[in-house]
Amino acid sequence: MKLDVNILRYLSKEDFRVLTAVEMGMRNHEIVPSELIHRIASLKHGGTYKVLKNLLKHKLLHHDSSKYDGFRLTYLGYDFLAIKTLVNRGVFVSVGRQIGVGKESDIFEVATEDGTLLAMKLHRLGRVSFRAVKSKRDYLRHRSNYNWLYLSRLAALKEFAFMKALEEHGFPVPSGVDCNRHCVVMSLVQGYPLVQVKQLQNPETAFETIIGLIVRLAEHGLIHCDFNEFNLMIDDDEKITMIDFPQMVSVSHRNAQMYFDRDVECVFKFFRKRFDLSFQEYTVDADGEEVETDESSRLCFSSISKDAGFLDKELAASGFSRKDQEDIEKFIEGDIEENTSDTDEGTADDVCVSVMNERNIEGVDSLQFLDQDERPLDCAEAGELEDREQHCQ
Ligand code: ADP
Ligand code: MG
Repeated sequence: MKLDVNILRYLSKEDFRVLTAVEMGMRNHEIVPSELIHRIASLKHGGTYKVLKNLLKHKLLHHDSSKYDGFRLTYLGYDFLAIKTLVNRGVFVSVGRQIGVGKESDIFEVATEDGTLLAMKLHRLGRVSFRAVKSKRDYLRHRSNYNWLYLSRLAALKEFAFMKALEEHGFPVPSGVDCNRHCVVMSLVQGYPLVQVKQLQNPETAFETIIGLIVRLAEHGLIHCDFNEFNLMIDDDEKITMIDFPQMVSVSHRNAQMYFDRDVECVFKFFRKRFDLSFQEYTVDADGEEVETDESSRLCFSSISKDAGFLDKELAASGFSRKDQEDIEKFIEGDIEENTSDTDEGTADDVCVSVMNERNIEGVDSLQFLDQDERPLDCAEAGELEDREQHCQ
């Protein structure tokens, strides 16, 4: 998706005020009624409507009048809110080229004031596997306050918490810099995704390092769940860095063994195919017959993960709660299992927000704002928007 940050320069304080008002309204509304936006933003002399038009022109909002006259944020609108917050915090001063398009994210280079380059990952949950997402609506419908912004924010929060914890425990991961909404800023990894590498000086060493990482993760109580050549970076010295953590699960997860085996198998398969490493060996079965086995089956998950689990607890204390973990697992799990790829039911922007608590869609009267911790906020204080903006970030 194109991210034209130049528009940022032309957006006024009022523009951001209205954009933020829409974001707040979306905590309880799939489509935020215009009247409500007007009330939250409380700009003088009907200013909200002029601003809404401008935001619409720049595709930061989407207008929907199917049920009633209202608006929702597009991903671009959400991007701008996050970018502005991070720029205000002094995390970076400019956004550069796009360096990656993941399954459910866009990655850009950003530069700090002193010219240091960092990576900014914008999470876009629900972008690719739209059908898988749709099939989960039944589940999500029972729960309050789910929407794609919320899930993308949760994915970013999780990724950031895991990145920090893994870094502290000496894992080769990017260094986490900051996180806001659906956006994670981290150090820029020098090197290339392993999938792009055709030759290695020491494929055996790289292989052992990578398998060693899976084992060490399990010893720490974690399984990556998407451990493959797309999520491993390698530099010119063949140093490995592991990326992409929103789908990680605990070794106590009910499907842990399956995820662990799959991660291991992915690595074996890739090295066998790409670098021609051979892992076949023979063992004797119960009948005394020699059978071919794959070395991957010798990695015994239950013994590796037996005394593991302390990182889970640390993560629970780090702001990424067990409930957050459960919410996102329920959502992502299907994707890991189904690996559905589907784009025929909506465009990226359309997918922005689809699931909301129907109870609250009806009207302004049932409005209840929730803060970042899902605690109710008092609607009557809508005039103090900026204070609340601070509170929410
Ligand atoms: P997704 O969750 O969508 O798969 P990833 O985190 O795997 O996203 O990132 C997608 C691509 O972006 C990676 O394959 C890599 O090329 C690039 N990338 C991601 N993070 C970094 C980083 N910190 N430094 C450099 N490149 C990165
Ligand atoms: Mg990835």
